[in-house]
Amino acid sequence: MKLILLGPPGAGKGTQAQQLAKNRNLIQLSTGEMLRAAVKAGSEIGLKAKALMDKGELVSDDVVVGIIAERIEKPDCKNGFILDGFPRTLQQAAALDTMLASKGDRMDAVIELKVDYNRLVERIVGRYACANCGEGYHDRFKRPKVRGVCDVCGSTDFTRRADDNAETVTTRMMAYYRETSPLIGYYFCKGNLHAVDGMAPIEEVAVAIADILAKLP
Ligand code: ADP
Ligand code: ADP
Ligand code: ZN
Repeated sequence: MKLILLGPPGAGKGTQAQQLAKNRNLIQLSTGEMLRAAVKAGSEIGLKAKALMDKGELVSDDVVVGIIAERIEKPDCKNGFILDGFPRTLQQAAALDTMLASKGDRMDAVIELKVDYNRLVERIVGRYACANCGEGYHDRFKRPKVRGVCDVCGSTDFTRRADDNAETVTTRMMAYYRETSPLIGYYFCKGNLHAVDGMAPIEEVAVAIADILAKLP
């Protein structure tokens, strides 16, 4: 199965993708995570991306399309993948379609997570993750079962993203509005858009997504 999770920053794409990947043996492909890894590694791509990411602006289409094109060719993607944070522009969406069409393939579903602006800001500023395994958490909405200990791997080391601050949120929301929201229309016209109420608790959103996937042809 090949899925896209679409929605503004903080909508819950990563959270749902992480769960879906685990439960359905799919690979989660987060361009944000891949770019952060490139920044950390100090690679050429990372150096180019860092300033834009810190400001909350999008990295160029060529760079992210190149990353995804290479990644989906790897054998572990054969069983399917979940795109989380890609595509983010119409050009990226078109490039993805071309990539898949050349293999006679297409995305099975695009799931749009709908969340109000104020809630997004709240989610972004309270977001953190396990520094060891990447499991996502939130100061209020998703705390580890034992305080300060990762549920998944037991690590006591956590990180917050440099761009998860109130200052960059506005720029990131504008980038979403300007560049990414047109994709809702794009996939609507392709007939594979499914909207989910992303305001509901994490488990309820997961159920709503599972319902959609169960009804796919
Ligand atoms: P969020 O989860 O808050 O939506 P991401 O982790 O997906 O954020 O992305 C973080 C940053 O990485 C973005 O603000 C942008 O600078 C860059 N980025 C990630 N994916 C893409 C993409 N598909 N196209 C362009 N830039 C991207
Ligand atoms: P995205 O990948 O779309 O930017 P995340 O999945 O990282 O968003 O979620 C942003 C923050 O909100 C995280 O700290 C996460 O734990 C929390 N979160 C995700 N989904 C929900 C939800 N349905 N209700 C409350 N908090 C949520
Ligand atoms: Zn962990």
